Amino acid sequence: MSRTVAFIGLGHMGGPMAANLVKSGHRVRGYDLVAELLDTAGGAGVEPAASAPEAVTGADVVITMLPAGRHLLALYDDILAAARPGTLFVDCSTIDVADARTAHERAVAAGMRALDAPVSGGVVGAEAGTLTFMAGGGPGEFTEAEPLLAAMGRKAVHCGGPAAGQAAKICNNMILGVSMIAVSEAFVLAESLGLSHQALYDVASTASGQCWALSVNCPVPGPVPASPANRDYRPGFAAALMAKDLGLAANAARAGGVRAELGLRAAELYAGYAERGGAGEDFSGIVRTIRDRSGERRA
Ligand code: NAD
Repeated sequence: MSRTVAFIGLGHMGGPMAANLVKSGHRVRGYDLVAELLDTAGGAGVEPAASAPEAVTGADVVITMLPAGRHLLALYDDILAAARPGTLFVDCSTIDVADARTAHERAVAAGMRALDAPVSGGVVGAEAGTLTFMAGGGPGEFTEAEPLLAAMGRKAVHCGGPAAGQAAKICNNMILGVSMIAVSEAFVLAESLGLSHQALYDVASTASGQCWALSVNCPVPGPVPASPANRDYRPGFAAALMAKDLGLAANAARAGGVRAELGLRAAELYAGYAERGGAGEDFSGIVRTIRDRSGERRA
């Protein structure tokens, strides 16, 4: 069934996601603060709106893809009154779990329905329509959103009630951030012990050290030819985004009194790496800072 969708936030992710909705036969009215992005989306068949409230007026579904929770909450202040009662609000941004809960509450208080549906798969997945969505909200909201999510992605998992999608996203990325640091430290330790990258890879990738950070996104060049390490750490998944997601995980851990000692330390290490010039590199490039700092200690 063709729907009228308001799509707000047409950046790296939102632009191609909106274009994929158009390709699937939906009517999409788009809005972004950056005029050039509206022009680009217009070229892909998205109807440009003059403002966010104009975009949502008369829409069946409102999809948002914004940088952070504060952007979403400020936007909701502007648009909730303009939408038709009962409109489904689907937020695909990665935001703080507490902000996601607040966004749900505000939407429902305004007579709307809400689903959080953050994604993994990056810009490549957004362009190819192969994203994975992690959704939080009621079963009816998930069922209604499913055909739209299917137009933008390959898989959608209903994780539970409000904010469960955001929770799943940051828990997964905490595993990923910690495991990438563990794999990187193991390679630097191997170097200092005279063990080759390939030998460590051949053992660990078929033993209990096996994980995605090792066998798909291997942080040293050689063992996995397609990993970003082989192209000077061009992303892939940028370290700035890993730092952001680990920061959200750290906030949630502190708020819940969870002693996620490695997760909190990973958040600090990725924040430092991003600040010291690594922001635009693939997150596996953190191996270089571990190596450099180990060299400084040995010197
Ligand atoms: P982006 O900065 O390219 O896009 C965000 C867009 O939102 C910008 O174009 C900005 O102008 C617009 N915007 C901000 N406030 C607005 C408002 N009030 N009204 C209209 N437009 C507004 O960011 P992105 O890379 O597309 O990421 C979007 C979200 O997806 C983030 O939460 C990010 O963490 C998440 N994410 C990104 C990736 C990735 O690889 N880029 C992967 C997974 C998840």
